[in-house]
Amino acid sequence: MKVALYEGVRSIKIEERPKPTAGPGEVVVKVKYCGICGTDTHAYMHEGLMTPGTVFGHETVGIVEEIGSGVEGFAVGERVAVGAPGSCPEGCYFCRSGRSTLCVNGFARTLGIGPGTQGAYAEYVLAKYPNRMLIKIPEKVKFEEAVLFDIFSTAYHAFRRSSFKGGQKVVVVGAGAIGLSMVQILKATGADYITVLDLDAKKREFALSMGADLALNPIEYPDIKGKLNEVYNGLGPDIVFECAGNPKAVGTAVDVCRPGGEVILIGTNPEPLSTINEIQIGLFELDVKGSFAYNEDEIRTVLGFMEKGKINTNKMLNKIVKLDDVQAALEELSKTTEPVRYAIKL
Ligand SMILES: [Zn+2]
Ligand SMILES: [Zn+2]
Repeated sequence: MKVALYEGVRSIKIEERPKPTAGPGEVVVKVKYCGICGTDTHAYMHEGLMTPGTVFGHETVGIVEEIGSGVEGFAVGERVAVGAPGSCPEGCYFCRSGRSTLCVNGFARTLGIGPGTQGAYAEYVLAKYPNRMLIKIPEKVKFEEAVLFDIFSTAYHAFRRSSFKGGQKVVVVGAGAIGLSMVQILKATGADYITVLDLDAKKREFALSMGADLALNPIEYPDIKGKLNEVYNGLGPDIVFECAGNPKAVGTAVDVCRPGGEVILIGTNPEPLSTINEIQIGLFELDVKGSFAYNEDEIRTVLGFMEKGKINTNKMLNKIVKLDDVQAALEELSKTTEPVRYAIKL
């Protein structure tokens, strides 16, 4: 079978590899679509983030091709999303305490991310832990929609990390793919008022079309905190979701949050934060929390949101490319700041 593997910075190689076979307890999935994640683009551009020889691809949807002995609950031909291995069979501390996104074995075993793994920039993938990794796609949800489960599940996990209660007022900083997914999740779950902050006019317009009540360019307001206080009854938002992943955005998120409010950080930018100080958090008793990835139940919920029309994937998938054209697609993605998502069709 054909795979596209990471050879080094800005270098992808198409190679033939043996088609995987399902051993006891395993399932082989024929890949239909695989999303090109921002993580893939980032690893493609920067030295040392991905081990050479790794086949990218962790946003996979496809069809069950072969079922190993002892696997129950799946049938050949069934449509599935392929997630991370989730809770490890060893039951590490984090999996035992319901925090599988922190699993000590999770990173290494996630297809397309763990060093040397064979992800789904390939015609087939092997799910070693099918009961945790394979999530059935509801009949009504097309592959082209389901392939966006990664961005929506990332946003939904952040939503669940927060203490959000229906009717609260929120701000989303950054209207990239995750920020736009966040807006839709917040709308679907009953946020009273959603303001999006982004420098880019096109992204702000996009956010409004997806349910945001207000979209502002923070640099157009010398006092953005004051501006938001006007909108939010003199107090500021209850919760701020920081989805831009840069130090400036984190500074804005902390700055605009109301006293006693909550800031959820979804970005994974390695730069040090020089944009916030302890007084802003300590004096105003802010709860600042991180959020990373998602678990299999969150994928299931998100696919259910798609099935019920609670979230809308229209306009979220911008381009479908062939496996042979992955390098060109990654080049394009490395040069754009637009909230675009590409997927590979196998
Ligand atoms: Zn991803
Ligand atoms: Zn674990």
